Amino acid sequence: MTPPPPVTRILVTGGAGFIGSHYVRTLLGPDGPAGPDGPARTEVTVLDRLTYAGNLANLAPVRDHPGFAFLHGDIRDADLVDKLVSEHDQVVHFAAESHVDRSILGAAEFVRTNVLGTQTLLDACLRHRTAPFVHISTDEVYGSIETGSWTEDEPVRPNSPYAASKASADLIALSYHRTHGLDVRVTRCSNNYGPHHFPEKVVPLFITRLLDGGKVPLYGDGSHVRDWLHVDDHVRAIELVRTRGRAGEIYNIGGGTELSNRKLTSLLLDACGADWSHVQQVEDRKGHDRRYAVDWTKIRDELGYRPAKDFATGLAETVAWYRDNRSWWQPLLSRAAL
Ligand code: NAD
Repeated sequence: MTPPPPVTRILVTGGAGFIGSHYVRTLLGPDGPAGPDGPARTEVTVLDRLTYAGNLANLAPVRDHPGFAFLHGDIRDADLVDKLVSEHDQVVHFAAESHVDRSILGAAEFVRTNVLGTQTLLDACLRHRTAPFVHISTDEVYGSIETGSWTEDEPVRPNSPYAASKASADLIALSYHRTHGLDVRVTRCSNNYGPHHFPEKVVPLFITRLLDGGKVPLYGDGSHVRDWLHVDDHVRAIELVRTRGRAGEIYNIGGGTELSNRKLTSLLLDACGADWSHVQQVEDRKGHDRRYAVDWTKIRDELGYRPAKDFATGLAETVAWYRDNRSWWQPLLSRAAL
């Protein structure tokens, strides 16, 4: 009889947030490696501080999975992190302060969690040789680009305090590979959308306001451009990087749908059955990056990644999810107010 495959124990930080919880539900779900017919034995521990953006309801579908554990704690707690890292084989690191507008109001928590928290995790991984360490970053580290797109060789030129804290964390993570040979892999994705997205980011903010018959704030002239990536595609790309990526490498992850904020607003109005009278043009965000665009040829050619969700379908499904899950987002509205 062939022995069962060894168990892989993965520590997922920030797994109660939007993308991290999607990742955990996917890993432990029917189509994931730890689902009933999955090929691998995988156990997942989520470490999450449950800030305003963390939500245990996001993990309800996997709460009773035998391979799932949740730990309420902070990635800056060195003793806790050391113990947890020693008990796991790999780390996928999502935990962060993630909202640009909040970083403009105050950057301290961004530096503490995004920079010092990442370094605390890396030190523990180094001590216990826990790897790969998959560091989830953002295209915002590159700055802003008028035309064309960034490859992974582009230097970081972040503009917002949020982006600067993520870029700092990226550089520290990569330094642990170059200095110590730790297997660190960095992903830089474009703007995510999908269900369970905290209602302060543009897509869920606009959907929830429009479903309530309210007005939505459009920054400046609405000409800022973003590439949109469905969270399903993002999570698939992260899995490719975790299982088949190379140590010390950066992988850009794009969604393939570039839209100005004005165009995005018009699609959201249509999807929610509202018109432009629901849009309020507001003063532009300070230092607002005009355009982000990543070149994701590397992950396509090396790991076979391609975004599968077309934007019209993904957006319609997302609006339907918010329509059907008012009980998930309504209690969050008071926490979303800046
Ligand atoms: P999110 O804000 O929804 O979730 C962040 C999670 O981290 C929350 O559950 C929060 O409780 C937890 N957390 C925060 N500080 C912590 C700490 N000190 N210790 C432990 N847990 C802590 O964020 P998200 O949108 O899911 O983003 C996940 C990652 O992806 C982040 O690193 C973010 O920078 C990156 N990213 C997000 C996007 C996007 O479009 N949402 C785009 C690019 C990159």
